[in-house]
Amino acid sequence: MANETEPILSVDEAQDRVLAAAGRPLPGVDVPLAEALGRVLAERIRSALDLPPWDNSSMDGFAVHADDVAAATPSEPVRLRVVGEVQAGGSPDLDVPAGCAVRIVTGARVPAATDAVVPVESTLREAQAGSPKSSFRAGEPIAEECLVAAAVASGAFIRHRGEDVRAGAVILEPGRRIGPAQIAMAAAVGAGVMRVHRRPVAGVLSTGDELRSAGQQLGESGIPDANRPGLLAMCRAAGAETVDLGIAADSLEAVLNVIRPAMERLDLLIVSGGVSVGPYDVVRSAFGEVGRVELWRVAVQPGKPFAFGRSQPRGVDGRQVLLFGLPGNPVSALVTFELFVKPALQRISGVTSPTLDSDRAVTEDRLAKASGRRGFLRVTVARDDLGNPVRDDRGRLRVRHSGGQGSHMLSAMASADALAIVPESIDRIEPGGEVEIRWLRT
Ligand code: AMP
Ligand code: MG
Repeated sequence: MANETEPILSVDEAQDRVLAAAGRPLPGVDVPLAEALGRVLAERIRSALDLPPWDNSSMDGFAVHADDVAAATPSEPVRLRVVGEVQAGGSPDLDVPAGCAVRIVTGARVPAATDAVVPVESTLREAQAGSPKSSFRAGEPIAEECLVAAAVASGAFIRHRGEDVRAGAVILEPGRRIGPAQIAMAAAVGAGVMRVHRRPVAGVLSTGDELRSAGQQLGESGIPDANRPGLLAMCRAAGAETVDLGIAADSLEAVLNVIRPAMERLDLLIVSGGVSVGPYDVVRSAFGEVGRVELWRVAVQPGKPFAFGRSQPRGVDGRQVLLFGLPGNPVSALVTFELFVKPALQRISGVTSPTLDSDRAVTEDRLAKASGRRGFLRVTVARDDLGNPVRDDRGRLRVRHSGGQGSHMLSAMASADALAIVPESIDRIEPGGEVEIRWLRT
């Protein structure tokens, strides 16, 4: 188990070690398309079909022989005999002799005998009273003739079979979070289910004799447990299922009593508080009882006492449970979640290229922190009257402190748009200086 004489790891080293330990993505499960939103695709999807599956019209109009209308102009329209109609979903098994046309709607199959579509906008309505109109209104009978006022090239206004996707082609690669467009794509090629990674199950436990569940009587020296609701929400936002493990008192026994029976339901265990060097900081010992602490203390501000380990194989599917010990200060807990837990969650969720959400900004306030540690300061981004972030001519945002920067000062975290990242090598960035930021997305 790590001890106090071990060197402090850099943020990058700690992230690398956590990711290496996180292991392989969780196995795949099939879900219906309606349940696929936000899940991570576990398998390539190939198209079962050509898309479009057949040549179809891109316009409402008339399927024609392009040769027949080559000379058509508004002043000398070409008159064609309308020999039938193809509706969307209808069969185009029609004979269309030269000089003839078929009324067709958008998406309907183009009769094999024709080679172009004249949009209804390029046809004329006849003025003479009593004559059949070449109209195209809903419910109106098909006119016997149509007057084409513009030439069309062969192939015009036809969407060709397979021009979007060929049967057998890969349409979606694994490792991406599934959004609405991916669901539509899967449906369009005939897939009824998607194979996605099983969702990670994360247990969240708060430790501290002073903690009370939000809404409970606080008594003389109690404080509301802010971390557990916050961390549960962060897990869910990162696509995990959650198990609320409640609050444990500051004793090894109390912590073990909660985590031991919970282990086999979990892929991750996230404990906040009790991970520092105080006499009641029992979380690392608890991790040592169910597994091993693999790293402790990171050169980060806030969040230095962060601990990470793995259990013996005993989680869901007999995997090792990833053990995260986050500092109790609420800002530290949320920041170390962003830095270490979220990447691990994404890794086991199967995400192959997580979005980083970094940006560049100029600071209006002095951004100060201890040197030797990477600082993550809570900042707001300047916006215009419409609420859009303002950028200077070099594309940089403008940031300032969102509030007090103490690691217990949750108010600044709650109003922050982003974390401003101040490198280890310096202790401050002066106003006007440039800084990398990382957006906090909700
Ligand atoms: P610890 O890491 O246990 O030393 O706690 C550091 C600080 O964070 C103390 O002031 C705790 O009261 C506070 N703290 C610990 N856990 C929580 C929590 N779940 N919600 C709010 N504050 C907490
Ligand atoms: Mg404590």
